[in-house]
Amino acid sequence: MSIDKEYNLFAKTRWRLALYYSGVMGLILSLLGFGVYKSIAHAHSVTLDRELESVAGTLHDSLELKLKQPGRLEPIVRDFLPNFCLVGTSCVLDNANRQRHVVSAIDGGSYYVKIFDLSGSLIAIAGSYPSGISPILNKEYSQNISDNDGNLYRQISLSLHTQDSQDWGYFQVGRSWKDFEDYLKTVRWVLILGIPISLIIVGSASWWLAGLAMEPIYRSYQQIQQFTADAAHELRTPLAATQATIESALLIPDLEQKEARDILGTIERQNRRLTQLVADLLLLSRMDREAIQIRREKCCLNDIVSDLVEEFTPLAMASKITITSDVRVKNNLAVLGDSAQLYRLVSNLIVNAIQYTLAEGNVRVILDSRDRIAGASRHRNAIIQVQDTGIGIPPEEQSRIFDRFYRIKSDRSRRTGGSGLGLAIAKAIVQSHQGTIHVESKVGVGSTFTVEMLLVNG
Ligand code: ADP
Repeated sequence: MSIDKEYNLFAKTRWRLALYYSGVMGLILSLLGFGVYKSIAHAHSVTLDRELESVAGTLHDSLELKLKQPGRLEPIVRDFLPNFCLVGTSCVLDNANRQRHVVSAIDGGSYYVKIFDLSGSLIAIAGSYPSGISPILNKEYSQNISDNDGNLYRQISLSLHTQDSQDWGYFQVGRSWKDFEDYLKTVRWVLILGIPISLIIVGSASWWLAGLAMEPIYRSYQQIQQFTADAAHELRTPLAATQATIESALLIPDLEQKEARDILGTIERQNRRLTQLVADLLLLSRMDREAIQIRREKCCLNDIVSDLVEEFTPLAMASKITITSDVRVKNNLAVLGDSAQLYRLVSNLIVNAIQYTLAEGNVRVILDSRDRIAGASRHRNAIIQVQDTGIGIPPEEQSRIFDRFYRIKSDRSRRTGGSGLGLAIAKAIVQSHQGTIHVESKVGVGSTFTVEMLLVNG
């Protein structure tokens, strides 16, 4: 897949993720906004209803105390209600003298009162009586009505009795629903503006988060791509060499036995390299899958070090290199793990040390232990160090040499025959044993690879 296509795929996925996330969040926010709006509206209307009922109740009870005779409105009632006006007379609104009215509950400006006689005819009004509401009596306890301009009012009807419990007439208290409507309008506007603004913020955050989430996937995708390309490249080299050897052999009409043997020898070498490469790749992929489930047996590190130093002495001697072991502990050191893998780990480090050390150099394999304190716990670690006096590794390469197929550029031209998997395998083995590996190196002076693993007691 080309880089452009790859980038498009990831950019598209990022957009899609951000979009889905924003969509889901938008839905949740809208539902939440709707719920909040409904509950605010409900709570507010319940409060206003209670207020209306309590005002109506108070007025009703106070008014009944003043009524003596059915159909007759005592003059005291006039002082009792603000803006009192008998129907049929001309009345002037008297806002200035409100204080003198006994009932100040309806002074707020949004309440009105209607008083009907027993036949249902409107005889008096008071409070902020809105023009344009019906003067016809509706005896239903609670009603929603509107005036000619469409303004909403809530109204409560009660029957009136005299002091000695004779029927007097009817009484209605209402209040304008406008402040409630205004309040809801404000809440609606807050939601209408707030939800899209939140959505824009959520959208940007989703885009950023989707980018963060995609980054490791993109990186590992690129690593897989790189790994596949490197593996193919490494496999192609011995295959092409074998092919060329076979083709040139086929061109020779009478192949002598010695020549045939040489050719077969070359093919066998290439084949061995291929087999080793495939085995390394399989080992790495197996360790990737089973990182945690390695065989765990007690492995003696002293044996591993002495066996390997002995095994590699002839190879070192052939390159005029001295290899020695330096065991700095009295007792045997044991770790839990897979001994074959631990042999592989140390041998990879020794092979590299020999390979990248010039003649007359030294390779030393050190075995030691040290105490480690992590938080409240204290434990003892085994240390294996492979030290050489070789060519060294430049500082900028030191973090990369553990990558799969990574070889230092100058080293590729030296044709050491390595595939660049040796240290990757070493690192994978160390990790599957919950250990650590690191390198210290100086160009022209030498390198020290240090492996640290938890010791088992006894
Ligand atoms: P290779 O199979 O090429 O040796 P490795 O993964 O073992 O691959 O090592 C990666 C690179 O690290 C090598 O190409 C080499 O340049 C560098 N390297 C590894 N060990 C040493 C060492 N002891 N001294 C100097 N360079 C080293």
